[in-house]
Amino acid sequence: MSNPVIETKGLGKDYEMGDVVVHALRDVDITIEKGEFVALMGPSGAGKSTFMNLVGCLDRPSKGDFFLNGENVANMNDNQLAEIRNKNIGFVFQNFNLLPRTSAVKNVELPLMYAGAKDRTKRAMAALDRVGLTQRSHHKPSELSGGQQQRVAIARAIVNEPVLIFGDEPTGNLDSRTSVEIMALFQELNEQGKTVIIVTHEADIALHCKRIIRFKDGRAVSDEPVTNRLDAKVELANLPPAEE
Ligand code: ADP
Repeated sequence: MSNPVIETKGLGKDYEMGDVVVHALRDVDITIEKGEFVALMGPSGAGKSTFMNLVGCLDRPSKGDFFLNGENVANMNDNQLAEIRNKNIGFVFQNFNLLPRTSAVKNVELPLMYAGAKDRTKRAMAALDRVGLTQRSHHKPSELSGGQQQRVAIARAIVNEPVLIFGDEPTGNLDSRTSVEIMALFQELNEQGKTVIIVTHEADIALHCKRIIRFKDGRAVSDEPVTNRLDAKVELANLPPAEE
């Protein structure tokens, strides 16, 4: 049964630069169902960030329609976009984007504060437990490794129980082993039913996903299932232990 989290129809975005119009995204039709795990790839300037900003409800398209969980988002105003974003989407970034002077658990509580939710500390601790960081909940980002900081960011992304997790180069600042650990966590969340979309430049990272969509010149030029998928937990079992 079709249950799309994302459905774009003729989605386009133009940027006017003086007299020149840049067609950052052209006529993109993409459907992503609940429970998918998608990698967005393509060269720099291909339109990946533009696509992510649109379907992440951070920006509005110039053309076309975009449905998030069945709701047409294309013409919403800024407040409506912010509300739908906070409710539905968890973001994970290359640079983790944690508040530096704030403990892990307080960082994870932030989306709950914006939502005015109750039991914030309890829920943030539960999210930290899901990413294996219960023991580090009172540490500040500077007291955590890059991989641990990204786990905190993932806990923050899932604490609101969003339908969609978006990763913008989530392993871009991590070494190989830590990258595989983070992919193991995304695979686990995906197995638990989360829809995950990541932008990545790295082919071996994309092979942990279930589907790869490639962009070029603002268009989605290929869209293929991953047939030789990597299981991050199996890889980790075969890698030497992490150096501390
Ligand atoms: P990618 O993420 O694949 O590197 P982008 O979506 O960032 O690609 O960019 C797609 C195209 O749109 C590029 O030609 C880029 O220069 C242009 N572009 C992106 N954002 C803007 C902007 N805010 N203003 C003008 N041009 C932009």
